[in-house]
Amino acid sequence: MARYMDAKCRLCRREGEKLYLKGSKCYSDKCAIERRPYAPGMHGQSRRPGRASDYGLQLREKQKVKRIYGLQEKQFRRYFQDADRMPGVTGLNLLQLLESRLDNVVYRMGWASSRTEARQMVRHKHVMVNGRVVNIPSYRVPVGAKLTLTEKAREHLRVKAAVEAASQRGVADWVDVDLQSLQGTFRELPARDQLDPGIHEQLIVELYSK
Ligand code: SF4
Repeated sequence: MARYMDAKCRLCRREGEKLYLKGSKCYSDKCAIERRPYAPGMHGQSRRPGRASDYGLQLREKQKVKRIYGLQEKQFRRYFQDADRMPGVTGLNLLQLLESRLDNVVYRMGWASSRTEARQMVRHKHVMVNGRVVNIPSYRVPVGAKLTLTEKAREHLRVKAAVEAASQRGVADWVDVDLQSLQGTFRELPARDQLDPGIHEQLIVELYSK
């Protein structure tokens, strides 16, 4: 029964796609969505995928992105408001702001197997930005910032496993990372074509612009 209680996997099953919330499990045949590709709950299997309304599609997309980055509604809306105030395309601004979060950058550098794990590392003061410990997961990493891990964190088995997986799968294009010395630079903001094509940020813009 335990596997049915896996809250994170339920989120993926609710959205009907992999959100990669559980680290290495997401890349294995233990992934819940591969085993049970239907919505969670008692009626999950009998639910038919009807034609969703525009509002339904917008809402699902917002929920999906919010879950990918592990945010609460209030925080997510604040990112949208910031993105909307910035010059340029609001949807892309939103994704770039989310990608600039310190927990996300640590994850993108391959030092943690999931954003949740990265967040924990940040909170536990294992991450340094430009030589100083920063323990705020939402800290907005400026372009050009240099990141590294504390000596203690480098010895963590979880970090070693994440780095091992990252050296096989690769890391994000917009960061420079040395997986040996565990030093990295947030080189630039990602361009839209470097980000997940499965995200339809325009739907989120439409939802919040009503
Ligand atoms: Fe669970 Fe990861 Fe699969 Fe999502 S992608 S269902 S979090 S194992």
